Amino acid sequence: MVAMEPVVTIDGPSGAGKSSVARVLAKRGGWRYLDTGSLYRALTLGLLSRGLAQVSNQRAEWICANVAAIRVGADLSAHDPKTFCNGAEVGHEIRGEAVTRNVSEVSALPCVRSGLLLLQRELIALGGIVVEGRDIGSVVWPQAAAKFYLTADLKARAQRRYAEGSTGIDINSVEGSIAERDQVDSTRVHSPLTIAEGAMIVDTTELTLEQVVERIWDEIERKLLS
Ligand code: C5P
Repeated sequence: MVAMEPVVTIDGPSGAGKSSVARVLAKRGGWRYLDTGSLYRALTLGLLSRGLAQVSNQRAEWICANVAAIRVGADLSAHDPKTFCNGAEVGHEIRGEAVTRNVSEVSALPCVRSGLLLLQRELIALGGIVVEGRDIGSVVWPQAAAKFYLTADLKARAQRRYAEGSTGIDINSVEGSIAERDQVDSTRVHSPLTIAEGAMIVDTTELTLEQVVERIWDEIERKLLS
């Protein structure tokens, strides 16, 4: 048995297994699930529809001037959470190449992070939720009951993303794209990808989904009962 309304955070780089693990944990605990990457992706999609791809100079200024015109939202009440951009539900397009290529540049800007930080905190405040991202245990909700940092070898992560088949490019390009995003996400000044204080690190390279879930579930029980 675990407490009723905990906040569980799962941070880590792309392809480490955060989404799959978070979904299983949320189902098992009867909790909600928030994929914060989908919020950054929805915002990037909104910027692309306003012409981001055609902007070659002073892109940061352009992004900050346009960000206020884009409303990102999420509905976590259903089993499969929904993400919205300007009132319309977004789907697979947020996983596509154009969004993936631009999302880390967009996410590095404080003008983007401040708005989404408020939204994330509003969504989390009720508790009873598993939240995955890059800075959840460090910045968004450092007071979380249980924090985890999932990681895996770059090759294993690229293989997983490639097997999902959503990117439509070859394995080497997938690996290159992940490495590039890792670099931007972990070296940015504001809320970089980092191991939050008190987070348990799980290297998923050699583990099955079930093994990762068991390891994390045991730790959640230990934390919430102590
Ligand atoms: O998790 P996912 O790969 O969908 O995230 C897409 C991008 O969104 C990340 O590469 C990162 O740039 C950004 N992101 C972030 N902070 C989060 C979640 C995602 O900066 N909490």
